[in-house]
Amino acid sequence: MSDGTGTLKQIRYLAAALKAPRITEAAGRLAEQARDASWTHEDYLAAVLEREVSARSASGAQLRIRAAGFPARKTLDDFDWDAQPAVRQQIAALASGAFLTEARNIVLLGPPGTGKTHIATGLAVRACQAGHRVLFATATDWVTRLTDAHRHGLLPKELARLRRYGLIIVDEVGYLPFEQDAANLFFQLVSSRYEHASLILTSNLPFSGWGGVFGDQAVAAAMIDRIVHHADVLTLKGTSYRLRGRGIDSLPSIKTQNQAD
Ligand code: ADP
Ligand code: MG
Repeated sequence: MSDGTGTLKQIRYLAAALKAPRITEAAGRLAEQARDASWTHEDYLAAVLEREVSARSASGAQLRIRAAGFPARKTLDDFDWDAQPAVRQQIAALASGAFLTEARNIVLLGPPGTGKTHIATGLAVRACQAGHRVLFATATDWVTRLTDAHRHGLLPKELARLRRYGLIIVDEVGYLPFEQDAANLFFQLVSSRYEHASLILTSNLPFSGWGGVFGDQAVAAAMIDRIVHHADVLTLKGTSYRLRGRGIDSLPSIKTQNQAD
């Protein structure tokens, strides 16, 4: 008869050596279940390893979510689809993450407050959970970052490093116009990812307004061409979710309201 205590001790030692501490806990607990349900040895081993693997991937997802730099934790499950019924199906299809393996892009257009950043974050959280590395920043932040790399002669290196991220989010294209140099750097970011890795872009402007943002119609056109070649473009509609129920219909033409008595 085997000495159960001795064996558990040995499992604890081996699990620590493998840096898989959850195996110790799962091995003891699942052993009872295995005996009760007459599992095969293979079933038992698979169940123990499965606990370790799923715990690792959950903590990996948490690490990737933390590292992504989201402005706020938002998920697709928190999203009120009644506010944006027209894109529900399309977002649900994108949530499977197939766009990432095909290096396709997503462009979310629409007025402020309609949920562009929320949906971008929600899709990106799914990507983190599926094992992809993600980085989130505003267009202005990306330009600062690229300008910095360029100044130090490190732009190609930085672009190569960024290609290792399966998904990059460029939030708020169009809130601030770019200098010519900045527009060129941004164009290089888009080109370097073209058909290699995905981008999600959000903008309050239609594509026709991007020329003004990039200060150059030709740069804007070349960039849009690469972005939308393999992309889903979704347009959110309506008024700001932030202003709902506050008696304000639209921005920036907020009418002076008569104060209720
Ligand atoms: P945008 O990026 O289009 O300006 P956000 O995604 O930042 O808008 O949305 C503004 C705020 O309203 C956020 O707190 C967001 O979570 C919330 N919000 C917007 N649309 C919805 C929605 N349909 N359901 C739930 N929350 C929403
Ligand atoms: Mg936003």
